[in-house]
Amino acid sequence: MTQQIPIQDGLFTWPSAQPELLGSRCDHCGEASFPSQPDCRNCGSRETSVVPIGSRGTLWTWTIQSFMPKDPYRSDETPETFTPYGVGYVEMPGGVRVESRLQLPEGEKPEIGMSLDLVIEPFRTEEDGTQIMMFSFKPTEE
Ligand SMILES: [Zn+2]
Repeated sequence: MTQQIPIQDGLFTWPSAQPELLGSRCDHCGEASFPSQPDCRNCGSRETSVVPIGSRGTLWTWTIQSFMPKDPYRSDETPETFTPYGVGYVEMPGGVRVESRLQLPEGEKPEIGMSLDLVIEPFRTEEDGTQIMMFSFKPTEE
């Protein structure tokens, strides 16, 4: 079986049949962050807990990324195969905003407020066949 490892520890629950993003929540004031932070940006408390922040959110804002991502977000794409893609901030339940690649059907434009679901997919393949897993969001299918 192909080994699949997350691009970074602590970003999402994996392996999982229903993966969720992982963020942190301040034990003191409740401020949520993604990715998880060891201290709170709101009140400065050092007491934060890693918590699942869900798998469905709404699009808060977006842009088109027209240059290749740098390490560690390098994919299998080359300058020849690269195509610009949508990047958005997805607002999760509890208000934390997550920057993510958007996967939209060809020709479809992102719409602010649209419902999006988390997907965890192979992002690139290492020489030994290990698949590096990365999260993105795609429109909710009703
Ligand atoms: Zn706090």
